[in-house]
Amino acid sequence: MTSPNTGPARAAELAGRLERVRNRIRAAAPAGSAPTLIVVTKYFPAGDVELLAGLGVTDVGENKDQEAAAKAAECARLGLSWHFVGQLQSNKAKSVVRYARAVHSVDRASLVGALAKAMAGEQQRLAAAGLPPRQDLECFLQVDLRSPAALSGESEIAAPSGPARGGVPPAGLAALAEAAAAAPGLRLAGLMAVAPLGGDPLEAFGRLRLLSERLRESYPAAAGISAGMSGDLEAALACGATHLRIGSDILGPRPPVR
Ligand SMILES: *Cc1c(COP(=O)(O)O)cnc(C)c1O
Repeated sequence: MTSPNTGPARAAELAGRLERVRNRIRAAAPAGSAPTLIVVTKYFPAGDVELLAGLGVTDVGENKDQEAAAKAAECARLGLSWHFVGQLQSNKAKSVVRYARAVHSVDRASLVGALAKAMAGEQQRLAAAGLPPRQDLECFLQVDLRSPAALSGESEIAAPSGPARGGVPPAGLAALAEAAAAAPGLRLAGLMAVAPLGGDPLEAFGRLRLLSERLRESYPAAAGISAGMSGDLEAALACGATHLRIGSDILGPRPPVR
């Protein structure tokens, strides 16, 4: 018996969807830029990750530790880079640093502390096992891009700004960057954001670009901009995105959120 997610039909479906997304990226990416495509495989099985690796995908994203840890272990031999993109509880830091190259959702100083501590423990574990150290954990600071009015609470209804989608308000960014840059075992990679629901992604990602320019005045190497999902990758690329996180346009619609 074959499950619907394996076999030649699924491989052909993924190949077609991936090709369409790659074409969109090629069409929208500014000349000379080479954005990293992270395929967000949440809710989809390790078999799909394997098929995607066969199609040249090198970077995958997940938003829940339990699911990510299991899939990363199952797919270890594929040599993929795993990106953690979801809300992260500090007590999951130890697990995440075992498989993740990057965390895109660093949104508070306490998480920076937990990740640094977890990295120290992970390097000790590797050394004790006679293994080489891992590279520093790439950290993207997640910014809340809802309108300034919504963030300050001035706009009660805030329909165009929508509900919180995670992240530190822009006013908290400098302090968080300082913490991440100073933390051993972490590398401040840049900023990440999700476009607010119901807003104009081009306007929101434009503000993200300005915040990124400001960040780079203090941390020139923190040049990453993780922005752009299935519905707004063109807007993100127009605003300088270096890392795209694409799920449903490659894997198909997700099952309803549980
Ligand atoms: C699920 C998810 C994505 C991918 O979204 P799609 O709209 O399916 O492309 C990107 N970023 C984060 C943080 C996600 O949780």
